[in-house]
Parts: sequence; C-alpha cells; structure tokens
Amino acid sequence: MALYELNNIGRYYQVDKKKKYVLKDISLSLPYRGFITILGKSGSGKSTLLNMLGKIDNPSEGKIYFNNQDFSKYKEKDLSTFHSKAVSFIFQHYHLLNKQTVLYNIMLPLLISGVEEKKTKEEALKLIDDFSINKELLDKRCSDLSGGERERVAILRAFINDPKVILADEPTGALDKTNSILVKEELKKRSKSSLVVLVTHNSELANKYSDRIIYMQDGKIIKDKRNKTIYNQLDRIVLDKRNRKTNWINRIVTTNFIKRFKRNLFSISALTIGLVSLMLIFGFSNGKDNSIVKSMEKQFDYGSASINKENKLVSNDSPI
Ligand code: ADP
Ligand code: MG
Repeated sequence: MALYELNNIGRYYQVDKKKKYVLKDISLSLPYRGFITILGKSGSGKSTLLNMLGKIDNPSEGKIYFNNQDFSKYKEKDLSTFHSKAVSFIFQHYHLLNKQTVLYNIMLPLLISGVEEKKTKEEALKLIDDFSINKELLDKRCSDLSGGERERVAILRAFINDPKVILADEPTGALDKTNSILVKEELKKRSKSSLVVLVTHNSELANKYSDRIIYMQDGKIIKDKRNKTIYNQLDRIVLDKRNRKTNWINRIVTTNFIKRFKRNLFSISALTIGLVSLMLIFGFSNGKDNSIVKSMEKQFDYGSASINKENKLVSNDSPI
C-alpha cells in the first residue's frame, strides 16, 4: 500500500491549438515515508510533477490517489484540510514574509490553522531546538537573512504543522555547500517520519541522501533507482502501519463491545425470550399473531439500531 498512486498522468498545455505535453504517461507509487528525489534538467517537468503531488495543479489525463482517495473527487473542504494538515511546500523562492521576524514566519502555518499564539510559540521553539538553528536569528527580519538562512527558515516553517508530505522545489541559485548539506540533513531527518520529495538538479547530493531517485527527461520518467535496503525497510514500515491500523480498529471495536456488554447481553436475552415466547404463544394460540409480530419488530429494531450506532462511532473515529 502506498501513500501516493499516480496512474498514467499526463499534463498538457494548449499551444497554437495543439497539445503540448509537459508530463506524459507518469505512473508512480510513493511510500508513506522516505527521501525521494526527482532529478532532471531544467524544463523536464519536475516542478509540474511536484505541483501535482501537492494538488496545486491538476493532471489533464490520468488519476492521482492520496491515501487511497481520488484527488479528483476532493471537495473544497477536503482540499483545504489536505493543504493545511497533510502537505507542506518549500518553494523555490521560499515565499517568506520578509518584513516579519524569523520566529513569526516559522509560526505562521499554525497561526493560520487557528492554534493559539502561546502554543504556537512553544511548538516553534521546540522545533528550533530540534533543528539547531542559530537562536540569535529568531528576532531578525527575514529580509536580513542570507540565502542559506532563508532556506532553513522555509524548511522549519514547512515542518511545524507536522505534515505527512514535504514537497521541496530546490532553488536554482546555488546555495553554499555547507548550507546545502545542512538543508539535506534536516530533510533527511524529517524523512524518517514523513515522505519528503525533493526536486533538484544536483546529482551528487541526490545520490548521497536519497532512498530513491526518479530521473526525468522531456516530461517522462526515464529511470527510477531505489536504494533496495532502505526501500525494503520502508515497505516494512508501511506494513507495520497497516497492522497498527488494524489493531487500532480492533481495539475500538472490542472496547465498544465491552462497554456495551450489558446492553448487548440485555438485547440478546430479550431477543431469546421473545423467540421462546413466540414459539409458546404460537403453540397455544393463532389469534395473537399481530402482537407477536410487533414484539419481534421491536427487538430487531433495537438490535439494528445499536449495530448502526456502533458502526457510526467506529467510522467517526477513523483517521482516514
Ligand atoms: P522543471 O521544473 O523541470 O524545470 P517545469 O515543470 O517547470 O520544468 O516545466 C516543464 C515544461 O512545461 C517546460 O518546458 C515549461 O516551459 C512548460 N510549461 C510550464 N508552464 C507552462 C505554461 N503555462 N504553458 C506552456 N508551457 C508551460
Ligand atoms: Mg522547476
């Protein structure tokens, strides 16, 4: 089971009344976590593909499934939940608020989601501790930062809402090597718990950090190279996830059953008594048919109402 399934994706623009394909026949499965790099020359379609994964662009052909759900069936509410909770972007030009401080920029996604300021600040400081950013920078305006510092702020801002997917479009202007490595280290750390998809043209760093490299040329995937050892582990993690999910569902079903044990016992006893009474009454009298049927209906209504209620509770608590 994969987090993303892309089936025969195509993306074209209408140029001079002709279809100009910028992506063609892209089929991919992406796991729940890991560091995946999309590598290719300028104009090969990397950003277009990344935008599809983040649902800020839609395919002209084919289907994308995220967590088994068809992107094309998303309603407005699903899309805003997806953008605010499931995915984070690190754009080529960072899109930081230059006049605001570093701390404010990192806090922004949580503030937008309506989390109170005090809690947001705590979360931001915790994150900053984890990712060893220079604390003297926190009160600086973003306009006063160097390129490397700005990218690191953009990365922390992308981590703060604990997204399942981080999509990073690497800046074309070269970062200095130290900063570039720091950025990769931070993304790598994050890829232990989320899916990180990085677009780059730097094959040296891609080889060093990636669990999988997808090579693109002229809108097509020309090679898909996986680090087999790590990839097997990723598969296992997905299986664990699935098992945990099943256990989680079983636990809820069991707990609900125990919680309602008395009521269930009562329902079963009532039903049994009803059936026995039915047989007895039927043996003695044919004239009581109507009242027997009514009593049966009552018992079945009660049984199905409690089953429906239980089903509703289980699906309301589902994370999906
Ligand atoms: P990359 O990120 O690999 O540099 P992109 O995904 O940005 O490539 O672009 C892929 C191709 O799509 C490029 O040839 C680009 O010119 C073309 N393209 C992007 N947007 C448009 C558009 N609005 N109309 C026509 N062609 C476009
Ligand atoms: Mg690009």
